[in-house]
Amino acid sequence: MVKNVRLSLGTAIQIGLIEGEPDPFFTTAFLMTYLKGRCSANCAFCPQAHDSTSTSDRLSRISWPKFELRLVLPRIADADGFRRLCVQSLNYPEAVDDVESVIIQIRRVSNLPLSVCIHPITSDEMHRLRQAGATSIGIAIDACTPRLFDFVKGADRGSAYRWEAHLRSLQSALKLFGKGNVTTHLIIGLGETEREAAEFLLEMKGRAISVGLFAFTSIRGTSMEGVKPPQLASYRRLQVLRYLLATDEICRDQVRMSESGQIQLASSPNDLRKLLSSGEAFRTSGCVGCNRPYYNERPRGPIYNYARPLTEHEAIEAIGITGLMT
Ligand code: SF4
Repeated sequence: MVKNVRLSLGTAIQIGLIEGEPDPFFTTAFLMTYLKGRCSANCAFCPQAHDSTSTSDRLSRISWPKFELRLVLPRIADADGFRRLCVQSLNYPEAVDDVESVIIQIRRVSNLPLSVCIHPITSDEMHRLRQAGATSIGIAIDACTPRLFDFVKGADRGSAYRWEAHLRSLQSALKLFGKGNVTTHLIIGLGETEREAAEFLLEMKGRAISVGLFAFTSIRGTSMEGVKPPQLASYRRLQVLRYLLATDEICRDQVRMSESGQIQLASSPNDLRKLLSSGEAFRTSGCVGCNRPYYNERPRGPIYNYARPLTEHEAIEAIGITGLMT
């Protein structure tokens, strides 16, 4: 039985295991399997990667301190405001056993929707996690083309990850968990073009797989340390496209690319403004109820994914940056 887990720093503050100011918009408790050592995969952007020299308590720019699960569980059960629990796993031989054990223990105290974020696993293993109490699953592809995938997390990195295997695993997950409960992640800023990222979003929409969009963040000690974050305008256009596809407000025929490779949408400026005025398009995406405050941005900005509702001014600014209405 698993005894220790890591918690995202924000989660630990939220449930009072670390001193700090709780965030009124924090809606998902994040747990990660605890491993003494590094992930067996080697994603170029990840501080947990095999070859990374980052401290081992990091994932993206967040630190993940270790706690005893028996201390965490009652606090998660008593916490107000969580809408989802998310169990993330590194890749190592006992990962599925550990995730299953964590879920079984969580299910003794909580009925909240529970996501698992894991590498490609077999259908039988997915079935075990579903039986234990997982309600949705995320398998992160991260890169939007097979070439880029190989370069940042596949063959070129000496990793066993393969683009086709990730896609196959997502398809198996769809059969088991159902539409709306299967997510992948896409990181913008790994070296893709806007056109390639847009094509990926359209492809995932066609496969009924939800996409959580993230902006690349350089972390010290990773192979991609020092690489710049993506252009905000391009990221905003991709957020708009993801949102309008997810809400069925747009279809493939209405998406074009300009000569310079920017997304253009065949909707009138007024219609677009109405669809985007809530600011929802610019919030953290992925599983329903997940908001990951400051996961891929510094608190001083620029804010790529808003973890809370946008003010009217912020929404107008975000819409303006897209350049989609000019
Ligand atoms: S599989 Fe996940 S934890 Fe492992 S190196 Fe890749 S991104 Fe990091």
